Amino acid sequence: MRIALDVDGVLADVIHAWLIYNNKVRTTILKSDISEWDFWRKYNINKFDFYEELSRCWKSWKDIPPTETNISYASGELSKMGTVDIVTARENSTHDDVKNWLKMHGVMFKNYVGVAEGTEKAKLDYDVFIDDSPINAESMLASGKSVILYNQPWNLDFPDPRAKRIYELKNAIDIISEINRN
Ligand SMILES: [Mg+2]
Repeated sequence: MRIALDVDGVLADVIHAWLIYNNKVRTTILKSDISEWDFWRKYNINKFDFYEELSRCWKSWKDIPPTETNISYASGELSKMGTVDIVTARENSTHDDVKNWLKMHGVMFKNYVGVAEGTEKAKLDYDVFIDDSPINAESMLASGKSVILYNQPWNLDFPDPRAKRIYELKNAIDIISEINRN
């Protein structure tokens, strides 16, 4: 079983760091105000600026909180079920920051795989993707891959029930056991 584990929005709560930045320089946005993947459009935030600011947040990687308290344990349990690789779409300049963050939080994985665009992930040779992006999930399902969707306000409307929603990373364990049985 080859498991691809995403970082932003699944392990790392980078939007938390971005909101702190945003709320200093623009209109205040709360995480609970976010209801779609491209929420920044609604606030007239330029796409390039948004992604550039997310990358900049990673420069202060120590300030990025994990999404939940048990990512080290959950990643360890997942690693007992198969090969867990970190598969993350991002700007090249942020890979070292992400690797440092993963180490600091004791995330267990085999390989670190960086891609430029999220939709490239679906082409990679994994059985299961754990991701929070509705756009990635759509392309993964279209490629015949299993998707475990990590619950976030920006993916609540994802309509395809083939993607199994989890609220905590450890909930992926039972879903992967079931995929293994089929
Ligand atoms: Mg993500």
